[in-house]
Amino acid sequence: MNAELIDRARGFAERELLGRERWFDSKPPAPTAASAALHAAGLANWWLPAEYGTAGASLTDSVDIVSELSYADAGFAFSSFLSVLGTTMLRLYGAPALAEQYLGRMAAGGGFCGILVSEEDAGSELGRTAALFTAKGDRLVLDGDKYFATNTDAADFLLVAARSAEDDAVFGVVLVPRDTPGVEIVKRWDMIGMRGSATYQVRLSGCEVPAANLLRGHGLRLLEAGLNASRILIASTAIGVCRRIRDLAMEYAAAKQVKGAPLLGNAVFAGKLGQVEMLIDVMRNQCRSAAAEFDRAMASADPAAALYRAGTLRSALAAKMYCGQAGWEVATIGSELFGGLGYTHDHLIGKLVRDLRYVGLVEGGDDVIRDLLYTRYVIPTAKRR
Ligand SMILES: Cc1cc2nc3c(=O)[nH]c(=O)nc-3n(C[C@H](O)[C@H](O)[C@H](O)COP(=O)(O)OP(=O)(O)OC[C@H]3O[C@@H](n4cnc5c(N)ncnc54)[C@H](O)[C@@H]3O)c2cc1C
Repeated sequence: MNAELIDRARGFAERELLGRERWFDSKPPAPTAASAALHAAGLANWWLPAEYGTAGASLTDSVDIVSELSYADAGFAFSSFLSVLGTTMLRLYGAPALAEQYLGRMAAGGGFCGILVSEEDAGSELGRTAALFTAKGDRLVLDGDKYFATNTDAADFLLVAARSAEDDAVFGVVLVPRDTPGVEIVKRWDMIGMRGSATYQVRLSGCEVPAANLLRGHGLRLLEAGLNASRILIASTAIGVCRRIRDLAMEYAAAKQVKGAPLLGNAVFAGKLGQVEMLIDVMRNQCRSAAAEFDRAMASADPAAALYRAGTLRSALAAKMYCGQAGWEVATIGSELFGGLGYTHDHLIGKLVRDLRYVGLVEGGDDVIRDLLYTRYVIPTAKRR
């Protein structure tokens, strides 16, 4: 474990984020100055290989880095790590020169990679994706509407999931530089939580890029490879938010009197906090072990082939679903603990509850995750362990 890096993330969160929760919750313009500060602290895009001049952290260390950032603001953390989905796909399945060019630029500037997959009609059935790429000589032309896409406006480049106009069975992922004519931000969504991050509806109209910007392999498989990393880090945000709820609960209980004594010494309160600590510990262990599995695949002789073959990792699916559910249990305990105050905007718990809800929704709601676990790991008898 890279303790120095995790300490640096904690120090950054204490210095730059803590105490600014209301501001992050106000839907600040993106990117915020905090992103530039993250870059100045040598932490932007910390998972990229160190050859790019970044911190070069493993995904296992990223679990704790995300927990530290999320302790202060989950939206900021999400916006800071979500590029891992696209950069993983680009590193593994992009032409080397393309990867070098765009990852190098992103690392140098502390920028973002937007990921444009979801569509209004297709929902989680990516096989129904309607966005199209059309071959035009040695160019590709992209058209389509994407429903939710985080960081897009500030991104250096976008990775767009689309199908071939010539062959319906061909589903690909195409790199589109953000400044390509035809990339239009339709609107920024007014989300109920994670308001420190910016998510947009985006339209692509006749966006022309070199044909070499099409990543190698079936798009669904590439997405599954990258989603392993981002799903584990989405799960990790729940660890940070739940740690924050625990600490706020302890602060409150020290001052709150029940039956003539501080709530802190009350057996019912102790039981609740014991339960919270157990949930945090299991969340952290599941995220770390899923991340270690991902890191092992990345350290193998041929990580692109290893992750293409493996597809969606059971441990990553379990981490996201478990952390969403356990996080929600902690949110419920936290929200009740502060009494009526917990149902107001005066106390931070309301924001933490809203932020936590995203863990069980983004990159696949629980029904979708359960379906994936069943079809990939229960039906195939060879995969049952
Ligand atoms: C804050 C935020 C940021 C986001 N950022 C991005 C981004 O950067 N890029 C991007 O591409 N997308 C992004 N998204 C989209 C997000 O990943 C999707 O909204 C999420 O995966 C849910 O998909 P959906 O909206 O298509 O709903 P659906 O998955 O279609 O769900 C709608 C309903 O259908 C049900 N359902 C769907 N599939 C099944 C099934 N197999 N079995 C049973 N029931 C099912 C669900 O349970 C639910 O009730 C973001 C969303 C949010 C909220």
